[in-house]
Order: sequence, then C-alpha cells, then structure tokens
Amino acid sequence: MSLVGTQHPESSNSQVLRFRSKDGLFRLNTSQGATFGSVLDQLASKLPPFKPESLRLASSPSDQGQLAMAVKDQSVQGLNLKHGDMLYLTYEPAEAGNSVSISEVKETYTVKQLPIDDIYDKEEGLIPRKRTSLCKHTDKGMCEYCSPLPPWDKGYQQEHNIKHISFHAHINELNSLTNRKESGSSYIAPLSESNFKINKNCPAGHDPWPKGICSKCQPSAVTLQRQNFRMVDHVEFQDSEIINEFINAWRLSGTQRIGLMLGSYDKYEKVPLGIKAKVEAIYELPQVDQEDGIILQNWEEEQQILTLIRKLDLQPVGIIFTDLLDAGSGNGSVICKRHKDSFFLSSLEAIFAIKWQLKFPNICKWSDSGVFSSKFVTCVISGNTSGEIDIEAYQISESGEGLVKADLISPSTHPNEVYINEQNDERYVPEIFYQKVNEYGIQVKQHATPSFPVEYLLVSLTHGFPERSSPYFKAGATNKFPIENRAYIGESASMPDLKNYLSSINGDDISVLATLLSNFHLLVYFTLNQDILSGHEYELLVEIARKLGKGEEVLPDCYKLVDSDGWRTLQTILQVGY
Ligand code: ZN
Ligand code: ZN
Repeated sequence: MSLVGTQHPESSNSQVLRFRSKDGLFRLNTSQGATFGSVLDQLASKLPPFKPESLRLASSPSDQGQLAMAVKDQSVQGLNLKHGDMLYLTYEPAEAGNSVSISEVKETYTVKQLPIDDIYDKEEGLIPRKRTSLCKHTDKGMCEYCSPLPPWDKGYQQEHNIKHISFHAHINELNSLTNRKESGSSYIAPLSESNFKINKNCPAGHDPWPKGICSKCQPSAVTLQRQNFRMVDHVEFQDSEIINEFINAWRLSGTQRIGLMLGSYDKYEKVPLGIKAKVEAIYELPQVDQEDGIILQNWEEEQQILTLIRKLDLQPVGIIFTDLLDAGSGNGSVICKRHKDSFFLSSLEAIFAIKWQLKFPNICKWSDSGVFSSKFVTCVISGNTSGEIDIEAYQISESGEGLVKADLISPSTHPNEVYINEQNDERYVPEIFYQKVNEYGIQVKQHATPSFPVEYLLVSLTHGFPERSSPYFKAGATNKFPIENRAYIGESASMPDLKNYLSSINGDDISVLATLLSNFHLLVYFTLNQDILSGHEYELLVEIARKLGKGEEVLPDCYKLVDSDGWRTLQTILQVGY
C-alpha cells in the first residue's frame, strides 16, 4: 500500500483502521473524508506520551515508513487507506515529565522546514551578469547578453566547475516548468519521492503480489542517472582541530574511526542558492575499531545525545569515517586506496550512507509527501593521490534511497558494484537500467542486473574550512576534555578529568567558565552523568553553551549556575576529593 495514492474506487464512508505499535494494537473509527490528522489525534489519546515529530507510519513492519506529520493534512481517502488496513507505528517516547496532551499534539503537528529552506523559498537565485561589448543599450538597459541567468544555468555551472546544481536551483527549475506563474493552472508539487515498491493493495482489486500483478500496482522500469542536483553543496569544518582530534584516534591506535558530525545548515555563497553543512563537533559513536574497518555497537545513549544536540539548536549533519593506512615511509604519508580505478565509496558504504539519510529525512514543502531525500552527508578521510590525508564528501541520490526503501539493492563483494536483489514472494523487482556514455560518446541504456556501478548513486560535495573561523564551541584546542567512547585508547572521562579541566578557572572568572563549558565532549559527560548536577542546573549549563554558540549574552546564566547548590557542591567535591 502506498501512503500517497489515488482515490480508492469502492469507498464506503465509515471505516476502521488498525494500528500496530510496540504498545499494542489499536482500532480507530474514521471516515473517508476525515483528515489523517484527526485520526492521529484519536491515536495520541491511546498511546503513551510520545514525540509527535518522531511518529512514523509504515505499511509493513520491515518498512521505514514516512513521517506522520507530513501527511496529517491529507484525507483518509486521499491516502488510499481502506477499511481494515493495518499500519505499523514507530515513535520515540516523550521525555520524562514532559508528557504531551492531545490538544498539544494537535498544535505541534506542523511540518517545519529548516530555516535555510524557508529563506531560499523566497529567493530566485538569479545570477547577475555584467554589461558586455555586445550590449548596445545605455547603462540602465538590459539585453540577452547581460540579463541575469537562472540559478540552474548549465553554462555557468560548467564555467565554475560546479558538479551538481543546488537543491533550490533544482526546485526553481522544476517550478519554472510545471508551475509557471503566468499559466494560471493549479499548483502541482514539483517533487515526489521515488517509489519502486509494488502496491500490495492494488486498486484493481486482484490478489496481491505474488498471486497477482497488473499495470496499476507494478512499479515502472527504473532508469538510474547521475543526479544533476545535490541537497547540500559543501561541507565546512568550523575548526581544523575537529578533524585533527578525530584522526588522532587512528594515529594512536592504527585502527579506523567513525563519528556523527553535528552542526547546522547555512547559505553557501559560491553556488547559486547553495547550502553548506557547518560541522561544529564530532560525536564518536560506540564502536569496535579494526585496521580495515569498523563495527558499530548498539547506541544505547542515542536519545540522550540527540536531545542534547537539539537543545543546543544543532542537528546531526552527517557521518564521517577514516580509511587510513600509513605508507610506511616515516614522513606521515598514507596510501591512496580510493581513486578512479578502484572506488570512491564502496557499495557497502553507500548503502550504509543511505540508511543514515533515511533516518534524517529532509522536510520539504515542495514534495507531495512533505519529505524529500535528506541533507545528511557522508565524509571519508583517506589518502589522496599525493599520499596526503584528505577528506571527500558525498551524498547518495534520492533514487538510491528509493532502491533501499524498496529493498532492491545489496552491497556486492566488488566495492564498486551494487548488487540488485533477486525477486521473491515479498519483493517484486522492476526492470532497472542505468544510462551511460559508451565508447563512441553516445548515451546508451544498460541493464543494471545483476549489478551496476556505485557511481550512479553518488553525488559529490566540496569541503573546506571557513576563511574566518567562528566555531560554535568556544573552548578550542587548548581546553581538551576526554572524547566519548575512547576507553580503548585509555581516554575516558572521570572526576579527576573534570577537576583538571575546570582548574583553569581562576577564582570567580565567569567568562573563563563560560568558555570552558562550550565544549561538546564536556556536555556529553554531564549528559551521561546526570547525578553531578540537578536537572535544572544541567539545563542551565547546556543553555550557557547554546547562548555562547549563538553569540548571545551568557553572564546572567553563568552567575546563576555558580550560585546553584549543585555547582557549589561539585566545586567542594573537586577540591576536597571524591
Ligand atoms: Zn546588455
Ligand atoms: Zn494490480
């Protein structure tokens, strides 16, 4: 069943929908014309408190599903839901003491784009051009040689070596084709998510796959092309020390490392309507590291860490991992493993990247489902062709996400090849092609079965460091606090570390205190050791870090913190002993 579908023919008005969740099975009465939001409100009264923005709906338990918020304004009929349909629910519990009443749930059920998307929605992104020698008009005039170019202009893109147009240039181009202001026809959402799944509730009414199939429920053939746009154009590390600290784990252990990058999204001026991911810190995930790979461990503290990130007004922006091997030359050079004749991102890594992208979907009002692809990026630190340690940044295309959602692809033993899964009773595999330029320079369609090159899914991003650095976390390289999940190299935060870290505060020097608190790894320590400060004092500490990161006044909060019982007690413990 697709959640976004056409009207169902044999509609009866009153109907029952079923919902399965970890807290039980629920039946709800509704009608074809009811909004899905009203169904969700009924549901909220039956479930334990949960975070509305985390609620996802899926048609099968193995499916990732889609955000409930994105479809709350659609009708039951519009979503193609039939009497007796079962939907699978997942959600995150609301934080303790923070339970949501039904009416509040209704209030918070709004799809919120990122601020950067709201800003760009109002911009045309026209590229200004200077007067040329061909111009025959006065200074105030304009002609075909000097009129501004649209942000998706191919010539400009090539001239400036921009590999993919920006996401908002892409939206504007689609809107210029489908939603011309002059045409007066009704608005059509320019974006819709790829759906390569067979519809198991076929509107033609036959038995579901594998017993029946028809043109209405069968996904059409897929032709993979290199995606011409990218959701994010550039990755900017706000401080080179962030990367240096991360690579240090490899220097100290000789084993690889993976981390979650957190930061924010902002304008990237070098590309028309461009977006950059600003990386402010790396949270090192629980993992077992090896010389040739990484095994991620169960992330038990996920909700606490994600909540901390949200309270700081930051968000997870990507994943970063190392693939480093010392060249043995004694000068610090590393082996170049990833190049045009081997691979850039292996099929295993690409599918891993897709799973992260699906975990952090991009809320988008231009998409008919309210969601489109993801702004989550994947960075690899490896050796470049000169034997230097270098970073490459990627995203996987939206159609790559569609292939994973429909369970159509798997990693292959050849890192550069993506394997197409075989058809079975659960999975219908449509014809998949990819478009390539052959030896005569002509575009040809190639069958993608049994495998196809991973590069058809890759979108490459640029990366760099800001010209003038103004990192969110102010503690800087001189004030180091042990990084989380590093016990394997003898780095593990404890009270003596805290004492040592805070010892540079001289007397009542409040500004030094504020700077020291502006350290992500320190905040992780306080988050996971909630017994040190009371809940209120902890919130104050996080708020000081947030305000400092945002350039706001922090001194009143700092005075409140140092006067609090918890902070005084902590000082005493650190002085007297523990
Ligand atoms: Zn002109
Ligand atoms: Zn059918």
